[in-house]
Amino acid sequence: MIKINENYLKLKASYLFADIAKRVAAFQDANPDKEIIRLGIGDVTRALPKACIGAFHKAVDEMASDATFRGYGPEQGYPFLREIIAREDYQTRGADISPEEIFISDGAKCDTGNIQEIFSTDITVAIPDPVYPVYLDTNVMAGRTGHFNEGRYEGIIYLESTSENGFIPELPKKSVDLIYLCYPNNPTGATITKQQLADWVRYAIKNKALILYDAAYEAFIREDSLPRTIYEIEGAREVAIEFRSFSKTAGFTGTRCAFTVVPKTCRAYDRHGEKHAVLPLWNRRHATKFNGVSYPVQKAAEAVYSPDGKAQIKELTDYYMKNAQLILNNMTQLGYECTGGNNSPYIWINGKRDSWEFFDMLLNKAGVVCTPGAGFGKCGEGYIRISAFNSFENVQKAMERICRIAW
Ligand SMILES: *Cc1c(COP(=O)(O)O)cnc(C)c1O
Repeated sequence: MIKINENYLKLKASYLFADIAKRVAAFQDANPDKEIIRLGIGDVTRALPKACIGAFHKAVDEMASDATFRGYGPEQGYPFLREIIAREDYQTRGADISPEEIFISDGAKCDTGNIQEIFSTDITVAIPDPVYPVYLDTNVMAGRTGHFNEGRYEGIIYLESTSENGFIPELPKKSVDLIYLCYPNNPTGATITKQQLADWVRYAIKNKALILYDAAYEAFIREDSLPRTIYEIEGAREVAIEFRSFSKTAGFTGTRCAFTVVPKTCRAYDRHGEKHAVLPLWNRRHATKFNGVSYPVQKAAEAVYSPDGKAQIKELTDYYMKNAQLILNNMTQLGYECTGGNNSPYIWINGKRDSWEFFDMLLNKAGVVCTPGAGFGKCGEGYIRISAFNSFENVQKAMERICRIAW
């Protein structure tokens, strides 16, 4: 008899985006003439930078001739891309990362989801609340949790991000083994200081723990004092794996390219307490189950680091950040307590009422779609997330409509 992995039955069905779609469809049916503005889903809306398109086309042409055609590439990524990332994203910032420590992939979602499989199933996992759902669900699938009870999976240590702690969770009181952190944060838009990040690194060293640091929104950081990478923190090379993506940085959500950094000195332990390097484990996993990112896509990603590419992604992220400022200013003026929007494309708004009630109000009275915070975890209740990913004109129109609601 073929048996299923029963851990999948523990997964709480995610109705969030289906529920949103249902309510939006009902509103549109009732108001066929009303134009809906979507500031909900975290997907970019603007075209790929010209530098990337040029490199992409050129690489496709190389595939058209036997002399320059490429078949299977290295699973870890082509050296040209790993080298430029190590230099531009790390070494120039004083972070000691080499090309062999960089693994090119088709997404930070896949990598943050897959990484847990190289660790034991009987470890204690700490996950933020509210959170990007991938971290939690993949640990449920792997059997690291009990059942879902009153908004929480048994066995998970939830790192509560609330207005009281400025959306930076306190260090766990008990010892945990695997810690997920994401800054600038999705969904709260909060950022972490070097000092705060150093506290987590120190905790991980002391507790022989490991930090999984998701920096998918690094390109939106505008304050120079904020860390761009966890490897700016002393000691992080031993205790942290970092995830990055070209998705939000350069509009690659449909093109697919990301990378994971596993330093050679990053360690984990076997049941006898003996130390092992993590890099060979991830390398083995990656090479066994992944075929590498296509050559043209890697060439397009490389172009992000060219002088033109750098200027174009700055313009691209600046465009969304201007939207974010507009949202932040308007919602603050309406008297709402907001986080994010300054170094992040998300604005997290305390609605002081039920998340779905706030969602329905924005939809019905302004025709604007946001994301109810409750969909990201228990601590998201009472909040909504507004995303800056849309055209400036649409964001302007959305804000005018929201300001006209008789609050
Ligand atoms: C969008 C996003 C990613 C990027 O995922 P890709 O698979 O690279 O598109 C990673 N982490 C978070 C928190 C995100 O919001």
